[in-house]
Amino acid sequence: MRALARHDPASALPLLRTAVDATHPERRGDLARRLYWLAIALKRLGKDGLALKALASAQRVAPRSPARLLFCRASNEYGMPRSSCQEHDDYRAFFSVHARRYLTTVPGGRFTDQAEMETVMTVIADAWTRVGPGIVARYSECEDKLKAFRRVRIQFPVLGGETWVSDRSKILAGDFSAASLIPTNGRCPCGSGLPASRCCNRVPLPYEL
Ligand SMILES: [Zn+2]
Repeated sequence: MRALARHDPASALPLLRTAVDATHPERRGDLARRLYWLAIALKRLGKDGLALKALASAQRVAPRSPARLLFCRASNEYGMPRSSCQEHDDYRAFFSVHARRYLTTVPGGRFTDQAEMETVMTVIADAWTRVGPGIVARYSECEDKLKAFRRVRIQFPVLGGETWVSDRSKILAGDFSAASLIPTNGRCPCGSGLPASRCCNRVPLPYEL
């Protein structure tokens, strides 16, 4: 299985998925090991987001496993693949929250074409330029920033048939700056020892199922 995950990840993937599904949740060590190798196979296939999701699950069931080390190395404070700087990490978390929210409103949960995707990206980027700097200046903990990102409501243009029937977009709720700060040096309630924003409350990538 290890050799497969390393050298033939495409064939290993379905086998590892089956193995993970078949593992009893109480067999935490086995589950963490299988999730770890699933993550290695996914990583080899360039699926960094899904690899991180598997590692996040693995470190949760077995906080002292090698998966934890790998997870902490590869992830930022939002539990997303690490980028080169904090500003970019913040923006990607904001983007992911709102892109996922948009995708829950469209059939199939996918962008139908490039134009739709670009429009949504532009709307989110525009919202970020208006609210992002204020949020990151106000909050230092990712947990707080994430709460503020989620409180922002963006009205996206409406796609009717082949054309955008409305190109208006706006930010609907602006009370994100009045967030009550909850002490966040607490750890995730699952007992992993990591902050929740990095663990059970982590930000999934837009296409992560
Ligand atoms: Zn957790």
